[in-house]
Amino acid sequence: MNNPQTKRHGLSKSRILLHRQCPKRLWLKVHRPELEEVDDGNQARFATGTYVGELAQQLYPDGILIDGNDLGQAVIDTQAILAGEKRPIFEATLQADGLLIRADLMLPDQNGYRMVEVKSSTSVKDYYLTDAAIQSWVAQQAELSLTSVEIAHIDNTFVYPGGGDYRGLFRYADVSEQISGMKDEVPDWINAARETLSGDEPCIAPGGQCSVPFDCPFFSYCSPTIENKDGFPPEVLPYGKALTATLRAEGYADLRDVPEERIEGWKHQRVWRATKCGQAELNPEAGRIIAALPYPRYYIDFETINPAVPVWVGTRPYMQVPFQWSCHIETAKGVMTHLAYLADGQSDPRRPFAMSLIEAVGTDGPIFVYHAPFERSRMQEIAAYCPDLAPALEAAIDRIVDLLPIAREHYYHPDMRGSWSIKVVLPTIAPELAYDDLEVANGGMAQEAFSEIMQPETLPERSQQLSDALLLYCERDTLAMVRIAHYFENGS
Ligand code: SF4
Repeated sequence: MNNPQTKRHGLSKSRILLHRQCPKRLWLKVHRPELEEVDDGNQARFATGTYVGELAQQLYPDGILIDGNDLGQAVIDTQAILAGEKRPIFEATLQADGLLIRADLMLPDQNGYRMVEVKSSTSVKDYYLTDAAIQSWVAQQAELSLTSVEIAHIDNTFVYPGGGDYRGLFRYADVSEQISGMKDEVPDWINAARETLSGDEPCIAPGGQCSVPFDCPFFSYCSPTIENKDGFPPEVLPYGKALTATLRAEGYADLRDVPEERIEGWKHQRVWRATKCGQAELNPEAGRIIAALPYPRYYIDFETINPAVPVWVGTRPYMQVPFQWSCHIETAKGVMTHLAYLADGQSDPRRPFAMSLIEAVGTDGPIFVYHAPFERSRMQEIAAYCPDLAPALEAAIDRIVDLLPIAREHYYHPDMRGSWSIKVVLPTIAPELAYDDLEVANGGMAQEAFSEIMQPETLPERSQQLSDALLLYCERDTLAMVRIAHYFENGS
């Protein structure tokens, strides 16, 4: 039952989904939107979702798209089309109890329509069911006969044959049975969301809901202590979830206040010690490991792009395709040269990437990387794709030395706050090499920059600007490795 005092807030499916994650999240979204932290990745995810949705539509050339500029008109247009001859409908717009939904695909079959939600993920996530239940409930209220409710998600075994042929890219999962019980709960979800919006800010403490199914953009507001970049909360203890929860429950908000006897294990003890005294700890063993390695030494880093919709023949959805490498070469102690490769964005980069890399790293000497599984996997994938290059790539793989586990085992600075990411370690060793002066400053930005270079409408001047920024960024990554290795070896 609706509370008569409850103001009738306009609701959308996404608002109900926010409320299902956390009532306070919906309340903040509507009443305190200025507190929301912008997630730079959101725009890219949204663009991917839009592109995938458009591609799904293209697979039904006889379909009709409902224009969504005027949603009231879209509801009327949908009704008119539903009353006519059956055909695929894109963005069919339906309304019930003040709740408006748009269905990605409505596909006719003998007894009605299949309602299909298109997702850019590679599996059916639990929260899609909530989404589908809401869609289906609204369709039911609108007296539309659905023969099934389905999620079309990307099939990650699809291999692109080329020529724009994306048949087989989507796998259709029928979730009708899974949501049949959930549909009856939708009116309660709607009422609960309206009541939340009409009331005061809900008093809800941060917890597991803050990251499931999505990272909440109000986390800094709800957890100012944990997010305080200048603080040292117990959460900086790596892999210390259980201990952290206990310490929090006991009222510890700062790791430096925790008594030494509460900290077990050498890793946690090292983090605690360094944090307590405000100084880095470097185990000389790191230096011994590096000093034992011969010259020439190579420091390499790759940038990759992993489009949801494969672009190059023989690639799969979300496959990491390398398009750039940087390599610092130390021919003798402190004597450096630098080489780089960046694809042009027009053709499959894998073969030229691998051939130039093989030439750059020669046949002898350690090849330093930071987090070896990433580079190793890309080299193995290209070796499988270009069997003639496999022997040289496999020989290079055998020479890889991973700096990350050396750092994890032997180095900690309080400013790392429980992370050994290269972007976090570097400023503690070589602050002058921070990435803030760069136009491309992280892997996500590198993907976006290369993706823009790939677009045919990107002007040559813009492509050049992006290429320059990418080259600078990747070079900074390998220079960072040089500085970290030197610091471990020489202590400076
Ligand atoms: S941070 Fe957590 S508690 Fe706060 S609104 Fe978001 S989900 Fe709710």
